[in-house]
Amino acid sequence: MEWLGDTPALRAWRAGLPAGARVGFVPTMGFLHAGHASLMALLRPRVDALLVSIYVNPLQFGPSEDLDRYPRDAEGDAALCRAEGVDAVFAPASLYAPDFSTVVRVDGLTDGLCGASRPTHFQGVTTVVARLFGLTGAHVAAFGEKDYQQLAVIRRMVADLAIPVEIVGGPIVRDEGGLALSSRNAYLSEPDRRRARTLRAALRALQAAYDAGERDVDALRAVARACVDADRLDYLEVVDAASLRALHRVEGPARALIAAYYGATRLIDNVDVAAGAGAP
Ligand code: AMP
Repeated sequence: MEWLGDTPALRAWRAGLPAGARVGFVPTMGFLHAGHASLMALLRPRVDALLVSIYVNPLQFGPSEDLDRYPRDAEGDAALCRAEGVDAVFAPASLYAPDFSTVVRVDGLTDGLCGASRPTHFQGVTTVVARLFGLTGAHVAAFGEKDYQQLAVIRRMVADLAIPVEIVGGPIVRDEGGLALSSRNAYLSEPDRRRARTLRAALRALQAAYDAGERDVDALRAVARACVDADRLDYLEVVDAASLRALHRVEGPARALIAAYYGATRLIDNVDVAAGAGAP
């Protein structure tokens, strides 16, 4: 496995691939866990060369967010990538030239949910991902449904800008208590980790109420809210699965999404409302 520490090294690796090689790409911010590994495993059999990027992208952090303390573990990350059969890891110290001047912004889909409380977050994500697609020339890239809004925004950007890359979504990987794996879980105390499991429990309760026939979104949200043990609930929404617009009633494909704080740590989770509370 090659470790590519800067953009020239990435370009050289890319140029050295056999003509016609199909490149798969998993962009990450590192401190890798089984959720990231699942995306690598999803692409591995579909590509000739599998590339992972590790870059804590300053553009997607707000001024009071955790950029400076975001967890890092280059050795652990390298071991996980090697175990997943990754061919190369692109881990640059920086990704933007001093005169970098472009912003890629997707409107509409970014208005609500995480976009409401993190107003510049998604333009940071789309700007870095567009640049990474340009640098890597990836044919297929995988993103987790854990960041459901991000996945929708990336799909929109790729369609709107006609970027020649296929986007694949991967299901959420959870710990044994149902907590969605996240690099930010490293910030949680053990009691808060237990409390954070109520996010999943709340979404399951919402699914169970839907299964029992409830279609009114206020009623569904009330059922879920009653289950949440968090320091602060950021949002708990039921939205149209494609447009991400808030719903009053569930009449088609819908997604329930939650974001909550434990101290300064902000966690997110989501489910397909109609998937069934008994589904894994
Ligand atoms: P991050 O390193 O947090 O930026 O995440 C990199 C990619 O891994 C994104 O596409 C995430 O959606 C995905 N990811 C993070 N956590 C999980 C998880 N628990 N299950 C599945 N995918 C995940």
